[in-house]
Amino acid sequence: MSNKSWNMEYSYTQLPEFYYRHQYPEPAPAPKMVIFNQLLAAELGLNADAMQDNAEVFAGSRLPVPNCTPISQAYAGYQFGHFTMLGDGRAVLLGEQRTPPSSEAPRGRLFDIQLKGSGPTAFSRGGDGYAALGPMLREYIISEALHALGIPTTRSLAVVLTGRDVIRERILPGAVLTRVASSHIRVGTFNYAAAFGTFDDVRALADYTIRRHFPDLEHADEKYAKFFRAVCERQASLIAKWQLTGFIHGVMNTDNMAVSGETIDFGPCAFMDAYDPSTVFSSIDTQGRYAYKNQPAIGAWNLSRLAESLTPLISMAQAKEAITHYWACFDEHWLAGMRIKLNMTRKGADDKIIIEEYLNEMRENGKDFTNTFRAINKSNPAVIPRNHRVEETLTAANEGNYSVMFDLLDALRKPYEENTYYSQPPECGCGYRTFCGT
Ligand code: AMP
Ligand code: MG
Repeated sequence: MSNKSWNMEYSYTQLPEFYYRHQYPEPAPAPKMVIFNQLLAAELGLNADAMQDNAEVFAGSRLPVPNCTPISQAYAGYQFGHFTMLGDGRAVLLGEQRTPPSSEAPRGRLFDIQLKGSGPTAFSRGGDGYAALGPMLREYIISEALHALGIPTTRSLAVVLTGRDVIRERILPGAVLTRVASSHIRVGTFNYAAAFGTFDDVRALADYTIRRHFPDLEHADEKYAKFFRAVCERQASLIAKWQLTGFIHGVMNTDNMAVSGETIDFGPCAFMDAYDPSTVFSSIDTQGRYAYKNQPAIGAWNLSRLAESLTPLISMAQAKEAITHYWACFDEHWLAGMRIKLNMTRKGADDKIIIEEYLNEMRENGKDFTNTFRAINKSNPAVIPRNHRVEETLTAANEGNYSVMFDLLDALRKPYEENTYYSQPPECGCGYRTFCGT
């Protein structure tokens, strides 16, 4: 592989060491490429042809460049409402790839290149640091599907088999996913800073995040309040998009909410088939905290935890104003999106009531969320990664047959094209459960 196409930077290591630990990935015994995302590689400015034969790098057995400085990131999180210290327990950030310059980004753009499942770290807390093939392919499939649907998300560059079995309820093939993200700064990273760091630590992270994601605010007055407000806007837009496509994240803990506004951490997520706002897929979400209908409010709850962590960089009044703004933005995006979905060409004062009545009828009749909208107009997707199809794919992949997955991924890349097979709802959608798969 030519090293020329890697253009790595290590800006995160300029933060206080409090935010990370130096960590090499553990070499894998027998790396084998399962899937490599050629299109994404090209977008990153990587030599796609040369790299897809390079399973060693994507398994963590060999570093991509000689001076590579991999780290694991520290973060905390409110998990189901409870504060916990976490951190990258099975992930290593190899570095940040700077993409080639383009007209929109004359200096290129920076993307985290992270290996997930590459062995234990200082944050493993008793976990083995590994990942199984199924959940890594699941993340690949669903993140790439969201991307094709125009929903901001972390991306997936590669999945490799490590040749090392992992022990879960049963023995499973071990794998490493290469995740690409505009950053891995989480609401939980700020929660960590506020709980365990100094005021200077919090400010250093806020300044870094502003530089990386909101550079226009760098020299603004009241920049921290504007930064928080901008994070609220991105979350409002993101969660509205989830609601409009029936995507259920499943585990919206603050450590699983990226400040960039990208969807992150595809554990027990799934798309809803029949419309029911109470839908929960996650086997661990027994109270339905992260049910479909609760996602917007959980977004606001998480943002309030971010506001607390940013205090005293922002005032209580600024925090409150921004959360109110979050709701206004969410309503606006949701209503605009629903109008498009329902082909409502003219705005009316009672549009929201009409939409809610329509949704109620869908719920009462157990209608399929995606296909009902698809029948109205072509601006609704025909293909989403339905649970039964994803499961079919993963079952085949676990037996070494990847062709079913390639077919599904082909269909997901073109979500607005008719596809009888992949747009078919399951015969019985009742009781589907997803697992974190750790
Ligand atoms: P997740 O459910 O993937 O969002 O992970 C929650 C936390 O558990 C994060 O700190 C992960 O790094 C950690 N974690 C998950 N699985 C493992 C594992 N197999 N070994 C070590 N840490 C893990
Ligand atoms: Mg997580």
